[in-house]
Amino acid sequence: TTTSLSHSNKLQGKVAIITGGASGIGEATARLFANHGARAVVIADVQDQKGQKLAETIGAHRCIYLHCDVTDEDQVKSMVESTVQIYGQLDIMFSNAGIISSSDQVILDLDFPQFDRLFAINVRGMAACVKHAARVMVERRVRGSIVCTASVAASKGTKKLVDYTMSKHAVLGLVRAASQQLGEYGIRVNSVSPYAVGTPMMCKSLGKEPEEVEEAFGVMNPLKGIVLKVDHVADAVLFLASDDSAFVSGHDLVVDGGFMNH
Ligand code: NAD
Repeated sequence: TTTSLSHSNKLQGKVAIITGGASGIGEATARLFANHGARAVVIADVQDQKGQKLAETIGAHRCIYLHCDVTDEDQVKSMVESTVQIYGQLDIMFSNAGIISSSDQVILDLDFPQFDRLFAINVRGMAACVKHAARVMVERRVRGSIVCTASVAASKGTKKLVDYTMSKHAVLGLVRAASQQLGEYGIRVNSVSPYAVGTPMMCKSLGKEPEEVEEAFGVMNPLKGIVLKVDHVADAVLFLASDDSAFVSGHDLVVDGGFMNH
């Protein structure tokens, strides 16, 4: 599939990294960033084939794929350094890579090996991406924008996913602390918090098809006649990444059809 027609150039000249960029929300955001005139979009993921194919689809001159497992700080550091080496800049970090518990994680039966793996990606990996993106932005005096993917589970309990819920609450803590600490450099840090959307992560975890996910969660959502798609989330990320949100920092932008307020 190709990207739709460009509507504006909100990201003209900008260089962006998207972790977890090979699939789902990250993929949609990579396409949208490219559509909005980004000079370069770096897709960082562990799904090499998928990521490479997407980069080719978006266009070799302005999109590349880099292998990066966010649990490994050295890989995160060299992913950021390679981006700066290749494109001479880093303006936007969309730290989005994340996983969901592969089975129910209730407190009475909490499985700690699963917990540690999930935290290594969703919390430590997220912090490593913010750290290394911020370091090059500070060094190069770039007034950059960092966006992290949290979740509605960042502000509300879930019945079956104590580890995931904790990890996403931690993402808000990261965003709030980092926005305080990086403000003096002109760097903004925000999060986006999607409601359920039928990406591979969500479908695999629930053993459902995308349409079944949409239907199951649609009935719980106050906003009717519309289904959450990855493109809706990407639109919110674009807002936070671009100068449209020039005075927004430390904020969590929920894309939830009013669910949290329900
Ligand atoms: P997805 O599975 O389609 O995409 C996630 C990507 O992250 C995959 O390409 C995967 O390979 C990559 N990834 C996983 N572990 C990695 C690692 N160690 N290093 C680098 N990349 C890694 O799922 P998605 O739904 O697009 O998820 C993106 C983000 O959105 C996650 O942080 C997730 O928690 C969050 N989120 C999703 C939903 C939803 O309903 N789908 C809701 C709220 C929040």
